[in-house]
Amino acid sequence: MYLVAHIDTEICAATSCKLCTQYCPEANTINYNNDAGKEKGLKYGAAYVAVDRCKGCAQCVWVCDNMAKHNAIKMEMIDQIGDQALTENITYAEKNSSAVLANPVRGQM
Ligand code: SF4
Ligand code: SF4
Repeated sequence: MYLVAHIDTEICAATSCKLCTQYCPEANTINYNNDAGKEKGLKYGAAYVAVDRCKGCAQCVWVCDNMAKHNAIKMEMIDQIGDQALTENITYAEKNSSAVLANPVRGQM
């Protein structure tokens, strides 16, 4: 088992700054769900981590704590996160190395 980033939806959706999404070095790992806040009766959406792509570098934790000052991201053991976002249906365009995240799904690893 290993540590991955986990974002507290309620803390994130209170401000929804999206800052961490610009700093994760792994493509398509921190994503943004416009409806995440609505599901909990909050005004904004929230960022979430596709745990199967997270490399555990904790850069997003530093960004959220020190730049955004929101403290919404914690490193947690991957098997301790109940509702995980996983990437499935990733497609690669021909002659293009960038991955396109089609439908992130939530599930148990
Ligand atoms: S930096 Fe923190 S508050 Fe801002 S979007 Fe990321 S997790 Fe949410
Ligand atoms: S721990 Fe690193 S790889 Fe994982 S979501 Fe945060 S910045 Fe991205």
